[in-house]
Order: sequence, then structure tokens, then C-alpha cells
Amino acid sequence: MREITGRTRFTAIFGDPVEHSLSPAMHNAAYAALGIERAYLAFHVAPEHLRDAIRALPALEIAGINLTVPHKENAVAMMAHVSEEALTLGAINCVVNRNGELYGDNTDARGLELDLRGSGVKLEGRMIAIVGAGGAAASAVLACTRMGAGGILLCNRTVERAIRLAQRLAHLGQAPAGISVHAGGLDKLAQPAALADIALMINATPMGLKTGGFAPIAYDAAPANCVFYDMVYAREPTPFMTPALALGRRALDGAGMLLNQGALAFELFNNVAAPVAAMRAALMAALGRA
Ligand code: NAP
Repeated sequence: MREITGRTRFTAIFGDPVEHSLSPAMHNAAYAALGIERAYLAFHVAPEHLRDAIRALPALEIAGINLTVPHKENAVAMMAHVSEEALTLGAINCVVNRNGELYGDNTDARGLELDLRGSGVKLEGRMIAIVGAGGAAASAVLACTRMGAGGILLCNRTVERAIRLAQRLAHLGQAPAGISVHAGGLDKLAQPAALADIALMINATPMGLKTGGFAPIAYDAAPANCVFYDMVYAREPTPFMTPALALGRRALDGAGMLLNQGALAFELFNNVAAPVAAMRAALMAALGRA
């Protein structure tokens, strides 16, 4: 990181927990690459302090912040302006300070779409299975819709939440390509018939990370070219990816989504093109993959 002086302006991430975040490594590498006198910090902000922390942004002239778990949905109501995309998702992952006015946006769907397209994943007219029903699952629905998917099966531990999300995103089905969003429980993932046509399965939950095993999945029932995408990322393949890899299937983790959503947020905060190669190198080094 560059030396901090009286002229340094700050960007940051708010989360609870936040210690694990790789965003400071990516954003500070970008500032160093561009020679911009800015720095990116991580603040541990408990939910009961979120409003006060966000209210402080204009006073401290903080240019922008990312939001991570558990703040993405609660912060929407604290913004002066919210992008149409963030309203669709019901969650914001970044806040831009525009001359004291706070603007909420969400770069998760665009970050995921960039990563899927960059990885050569093709979804036109195909069925997708998404595990989860939170903000990340909503961003997956939006990304897959934009990539022309034909239908989506949302599977969640709390089925009612999946049904609510499917209903909330039903308007996406009015797009010319047309898409249907169906909801079910995690038990669907073990039913071979439910996975017989899928081109992509996305995990949008923290399952398997700190919560023991993953729900049973009929990996071998999915077509041979089905891609298994985990929004979670780690040094090693995740518990969601491992059985897919053992069957010779393609499996990707969420590091590429993290990189792209971060690069898009960097551009919103700093009004300059993100040095993506420098951000990727810092992320890969932090993940021990350099
Ligand atoms: P969220 O709104 O809190 O939603 C969490 C989802 O995970 C819910 O569907 C929840 O099910 C499910 N879940 C949590 N613990 C579970 C368990 N033990 N067993 C089964 N299901 C469980 O969180 P989010 O913002 O959508 O984020 C979801 C995940 O995506 C997180 O791990 C996050 O780190 C990751 N993510 C990654 C990126 C990236 O750039 N790679 C970006 C965004 C998010 P219930 O509804 O039943 O509680």
C-alpha cells in the first residue's frame, strides 16, 4: 500500500465479520498500480451500527464503500438513490459518495455475468439450478437471465424464501428471451430428473464452508457438460466443487465473480478504469494461487 498522507482519501468495506475479506488486497493493489493517492480499509461494522457508519461517509469524505454480509439488504433503505438493478435485487453491495449524496448499487450480477462469459459458459435457452434464495441467488438469477437462460430452478433450505424470490423476480420473465423461475427445497438437488437438463448449477449459499457438509446433489444426473459454479472461494476446491471435479465435470469457484464485482465497484468509486490485471494478481496471491 502507498504511504498514507494528509491528502489520502479512503474507500472501504463494511462487514460483520470482515477480517477474511480479500477486497482490501484487490483495491489497494489497484491504487498502487494507478498511482492514485487513495487507500481501501476494512471496518468491522455490527448491524446495530450500520446506520451511523453509513451516515458518517459524507462527513469523512469517504469516496465509496463495499458492503458484505449481513448489510447488503438493510442498507438499501439508508440510501438517497438506489440503482434500478439494486432495487431489482433488493440488495446493494456498494455505496458511492457523490458530493455527499449516497448512491447504492449492486455489481454482483454484472460481476458474475462477466466471469461466466469470460469462462466460456453458454446458457442460451438452457435450464439453470441455483442453490440459495438470498441477495447472491437473486444476482445469479439476473445474470443467467441476461445470458439468455431458458429456465431457473431455485432450491433453498427455507422453501418459502425461494418461492418469494421466484415471485419477486417473475417480471424478468417478460424479457424477450423469456425465462421461468421455479422454487423448491434442497431435496430437489438429489432428484436426478430435476437436474437432467441443466447447463449450470450455482451455489449461492455459504454451505460447506463452515457448516459441515453440503446438501446431497445428484451430480452424475446432470449432463456431462454441466458447469458447477460456487460463489464461495477458497485456497482449495470447495466442498460443492469437489464431487463435480471427481466426476470429471467443470467446476469454478467465486474468485472470478469477486474480482469482477470489485473491479466494477472500483470504477464507481474512483471514476477511472480498473487495472483488472493488478487486482487479479493481488487476489490470486491472497488465495495462495500466485
Ligand atoms: P444471504 O442473503 O444471507 O443468503 C444466504 C443463503 O444461504 C440463504 O439462501 C440461506 O438459506 C442459505 N444458507 C445459509 N446457511 C445455510 C446452511 N447451513 N444450509 C443451507 N443453506 C444455508 O447471503 P448472500 O448475500 O445471498 O450470500 C450467499 C453466499 O454467496 C455467501 O457465502 C457469500 O459469501 C457468497 N457471495 C459471493 C460473492 C462473490 O463475489 N464470489 C458475491 C456475493 C455473495 P435460508 O434462506 O434457508 O436461510
